[in-house]
Amino acid sequence: MPSPAAYSDFGPMRLNEPLSNWTTMRIGGPAEMFFEPHKPEHLADLLTALEKDGVPWTLIGGGANTVAPDGGIPGAVIHTGNMRRLFRDGNGLRLWPGVTLPTLVRSAQGLGLSGVEKLVGVPGHVGGALAMNAGSVEWGIWDQVEEIVLWSPGPANEEDGLKFRTWSPKEIQPAYRHGNLGGRVVLETLLTLEESTPLAVKATQDEFLKRKNQSQPVKLTSAGCAFKNPNGDSAGRLIDSAGLKGHCIGGVAVSDIHANFLVNQGGASAADVRQMLDIIEQTVLEKSGVSLERELVVLPEPL
Ligand SMILES: Cc1cc2nc3c(=O)[nH]c(=O)nc-3n(C[C@H](O)[C@H](O)[C@H](O)COP(=O)(O)OP(=O)(O)OC[C@H]3O[C@@H](n4cnc5c(N)ncnc54)[C@H](O)[C@@H]3O)c2cc1C
Repeated sequence: MPSPAAYSDFGPMRLNEPLSNWTTMRIGGPAEMFFEPHKPEHLADLLTALEKDGVPWTLIGGGANTVAPDGGIPGAVIHTGNMRRLFRDGNGLRLWPGVTLPTLVRSAQGLGLSGVEKLVGVPGHVGGALAMNAGSVEWGIWDQVEEIVLWSPGPANEEDGLKFRTWSPKEIQPAYRHGNLGGRVVLETLLTLEESTPLAVKATQDEFLKRKNQSQPVKLTSAGCAFKNPNGDSAGRLIDSAGLKGHCIGGVAVSDIHANFLVNQGGASAADVRQMLDIIEQTVLEKSGVSLERELVVLPEPL
């Protein structure tokens, strides 16, 4: 692997950065190289250079849906937090990948633009939200995507020799809690929103936030929902009826407020989370015959 100095043109970089500082679950060992590019074009160039040199890379946004490995991540971790520009474009918003969801929600409200109210109270960055198709049961952020600029691994485009291009949602085919990016990286997106008024948008946001605060452990250290809701049912209900509410392994507990949230009670490890996910999957399968699908991104331990 080239020396870290070979990547000094791509913006700030730190060595052995603890990932527990960058995930909402507060879990994770060190990233060998931790980059924070300032612009999407720097991100694209960095990805291209790492790919050329055969250096493995991992993207991280707000770390709000991710469990980082106890043993850390070899190679490069790229945090999107410095790329946070947001531009008005007609009735839409053009966003860099590190715009935080609270900034998106606040800006749309201030401009009287409706469409992303259901992201109120959801932590994370726009890139991570698109990768996860974050939202509610019946809505995801991709419902608002007009176009998206993605960097792709592999050969450059034949026409222009670049490694990124603009895609339509129809080409990507996102699904429930699954952005279907397949290794591609979000550099920018344009969301279509509807003209409304700041007051009307705020009223809708307040309603969603009230419901969220009542039903989820929003003040505790978690990484959101651990499992996707199976068709017509709720993962939280299934975990609760399997008798697992409050169940603890090491420092991790199944939340008493919402059984689909795993909470770090202090000192939790990625190994605790993995064990807990396995036990939940086995118990729910035994008790209700349903195979739960993981929503949490649990990154693998280094070999
Ligand atoms: C208290 C709490 C409440 C939550 N409520 C909700 C909710 O209501 N609805 C919901 O859907 N989620 C919810 N979540 C989960 C989380 O907030 C969302 O999934 C959010 O979109 C994650 O964004 P992130 O930037 O933190 O992603 P990360 O956890 O940083 O990353 C998630 C995935 O996205 C990839 N990724 C990150 N950036 C990019 C990029 N630029 N290009 C390509 N891939 C990228 C990462 O590699 C990783 O695979 C909640 C979480 C918490 C802690």
